[in-house]
Amino acid sequence: MNINLLQIVNRMNLLSDDFVPEGLKTICNREGDIVYVPPMVWDSFNAMIHEGVFYSQYLDLTSGYRSYQRQQELFSESVREIGEEETLKRVAFPGASEHQLGLGIDISNFSSDGKMRDDEDRFKWVHENCARFGFIIRYKKEYQAITGVMDEPWHLRYVGEVAPKIESLGLPLEEIVRRQLV
Ligand SMILES: [Zn+2]
Repeated sequence: MNINLLQIVNRMNLLSDDFVPEGLKTICNREGDIVYVPPMVWDSFNAMIHEGVFYSQYLDLTSGYRSYQRQQELFSESVREIGEEETLKRVAFPGASEHQLGLGIDISNFSSDGKMRDDEDRFKWVHENCARFGFIIRYKKEYQAITGVMDEPWHLRYVGEVAPKIESLGLPLEEIVRRQLV
């Protein structure tokens, strides 16, 4: 795979408009939507889906790879709706999305009756367990000054086997990489 698992993608580290990760896998999620993710990201998330079932956590992959062009559309649509200032806080700039890198995913979580879980506990199990499966919580409120992205509890970043160490350090990925902590 042509991706460094610790690659930083943000406003200062943009991906080119023609970057597409190799070997994307096509997944049909619980809602029947098609989502594209690299095989190792899917294998890890799928393992978490299976474990979640034992704890009545019904996880779904709502978003995976997103092209530069799609990100550009989302950004422009948002600027039209809520203006540029608010958009910059909420929607990744084209080239600045981990979804284009292929290692960022968005998830949802349902309870056994098929309803979306309540806000406060929706991602609790996922956040307590995702590192074992190679995922970190990329955008926390306390990281916002560095990541430039608001709290996004539904967004996970695949980093592989160093995930537990990164989570235990409690620092944004930018800091982990800059200080070479893993
Ligand atoms: Zn996301």
